[in-house]
Amino acid sequence: MTMDLYFDNAATTKLSERALAAYAEASSRFYGNPSSVHRIGIEAKKKLEEERECIASLMGINGNQLFFTSGATESIAAVMSSLLFTTPGHIIISKIEHEAVSSWLPVLRQHGWRTTELRARNGFVDPEELRAALTPETKLVAIMAVNNVTGAIEPIDKLVRTVREYEKEGKRRIFFFADSVQALGKIDYRIEDIGIDGASFSGHKINGPRGIGMLYLENSAAFRPLAPAGGQEKGKRGGTENLPAISALRVAVEEWLVGREEKNLRAAALKERIASAVSDLGFQIISPEMSSPYILSYSGPLPSQVYTRMLSDRGVSVSSGSACSNNSKGEGEKILIAMGVRPDKARNAVRISLSNSTTEDDAENLIRIIREIGNGR
Ligand code: PLP
Repeated sequence: MTMDLYFDNAATTKLSERALAAYAEASSRFYGNPSSVHRIGIEAKKKLEEERECIASLMGINGNQLFFTSGATESIAAVMSSLLFTTPGHIIISKIEHEAVSSWLPVLRQHGWRTTELRARNGFVDPEELRAALTPETKLVAIMAVNNVTGAIEPIDKLVRTVREYEKEGKRRIFFFADSVQALGKIDYRIEDIGIDGASFSGHKINGPRGIGMLYLENSAAFRPLAPAGGQEKGKRGGTENLPAISALRVAVEEWLVGREEKNLRAAALKERIASAVSDLGFQIISPEMSSPYILSYSGPLPSQVYTRMLSDRGVSVSSGSACSNNSKGEGEKILIAMGVRPDKARNAVRISLSNSTTEDDAENLIRIIREIGNGR
């Protein structure tokens, strides 16, 4: 029997058992619609708000700054589509954003927006380049906290400071959005201290369920959503709340944030062990020093499709490049090239991604299989 070694946690994670139990419990005990005014509905509403408060306090923010969505893609779409209600201006993103962000550029351009994409040399957006790109028309800056292809931890605090300093020069307020999907629980990431205006999160990247995500808005007063519908989520996101998934998400957030530091250090040690084994075999490590302990990107002589297939035949699941989905082939490659990785190296890139449940045995078995395959020469 081949063993099952799952190292594609940046794409999605396995639902944790406690999260699954919370999902089942909320499904059977709190089945009412939180908008209904009868007892069952009121109990569901109370549970919903308890879960919101719990998640918010774990994240160090207020419950009224947190809105549940169907996933990060929707959280990002809520912010990007809200721009369409304002007079067109200028938006800045990085060249290494996930498609959930970058796919909005053509839409905004079509509606008269001017767009700038910042380089990310060696994986990082440079605050000075951001400063040079800011204009009096800039309304939004969107730069991800942790890159999903390489794990690079962007200098969000410095980038936010750059924007705030520019604002002080008498120009108007600029919305700073950080796609934080790969940051929550995986690095030291304190939203309020950093001073961002908005952020997106996803349940299924942290062993929570699919179909649940979060949008953080520092101040939602002026936020105009595309789909207010039934007025749920304080009118910022219509639609019946997915309470079972929200309950399960609360457990997942707890499991990642309680004892985070120690868990992150454990993952960093495992990643280091895997990285040193692959570099001993002559592979080139692509992930920079300042990267998530959960993501390791490297490249060798074999095309990534061939190499990932060889691993898959031995029970190891990894991704080639980014491959959050097979529908966006070449996205990861594009991002690596934007960082300055040579196209041939980018084509051969693989991404190993860990979870908080990855064990030493998993890492050792992975290393053994990587050594068995060698570098293909
Ligand atoms: N942003 C980043 C950095 C991601 O890795 C992903 C994963 O696919 C997304 C956004 C989209 O998240 P979701 O699947 O919750 O829509």
